[in-house]
Amino acid sequence: MGDSGSASQVVRLTESADSGILNERVLFLVFEYMKWDIPTLCRTAAVNWKLRALAKRLLWRELCIYRAPRMISTLTEGTTSSRIVGGWPALAKLLFFCGGCESTRHFGLSRPSPGHFVEASRFSKTSGQSFLPKSCRGDVLYVSDPCEHAAATGEVNQDDVGIYRGVFRSFLKSRTRECLIRKQVEFEEGMRCPYCAARVWSMTAAQLIPRKSVARRLGSSDDALEYFVCLNGHLHGTCWLVPLSDDEGGDANDHDDDDEDEIEDEDDEHI
Ligand SMILES: [Zn+2]
Ligand SMILES: [Zn+2]
Repeated sequence: MGDSGSASQVVRLTESADSGILNERVLFLVFEYMKWDIPTLCRTAAVNWKLRALAKRLLWRELCIYRAPRMISTLTEGTTSSRIVGGWPALAKLLFFCGGCESTRHFGLSRPSPGHFVEASRFSKTSGQSFLPKSCRGDVLYVSDPCEHAAATGEVNQDDVGIYRGVFRSFLKSRTRECLIRKQVEFEEGMRCPYCAARVWSMTAAQLIPRKSVARRLGSSDDALEYFVCLNGHLHGTCWLVPLSDDEGGDANDHDDDDEDEIEDEDDEHI
């Protein structure tokens, strides 16, 4: 389907009449047929304010449910028609977009690395538990596997950068948030969530990173990582990935062999 063709057809559908329900249904069916194609959805949401509003209210949510049904069911506690903290467009972006990275207060890079769409990711609730301090283990947090970005040429540290992202369930009621507030941790200055633009807390500054378990999960060393959590419970972070030695094989997923959690978690979501 041509880009301009699909966009103009969409405009006709919404502007032909005010029977919004019928048009929404048509649009829904078209996207269902297209398996919620993300580039088309992005272009559709950019056509005009009406479609942007419709995408915000309906289409991004349906994309999330289509691609990550179990994860969305867990995050919304089974009520997928409900609103979600931070909004559906932000969650859709988090699922399908690696935000790249730039230097931060506790994580220096010689150059920033740009964000990009990702074809496939694995989000894991079991991984998420490794990112929570003991007192917050009751929280539900999904975290992605790290996306590998090559280090800059000439970088003193030649390891690759791992960039990962995640999301809490019901962050407003979470122990992690309660802990951040109780400790009166300041928001990180000049930094916003790459997914919803809300202010963020540095978990390093908050001293809430269980470094050993996170490093083991990411394949990093425990002093070489940093992550942030925003007001809406989106997590994004970076680490230096330790290169695998030859006898460990080339599969990045194999470096956790001695980990008792290695058995695939039934709640893991491959999108
Ligand atoms: Zn990436
Ligand atoms: Zn956010």
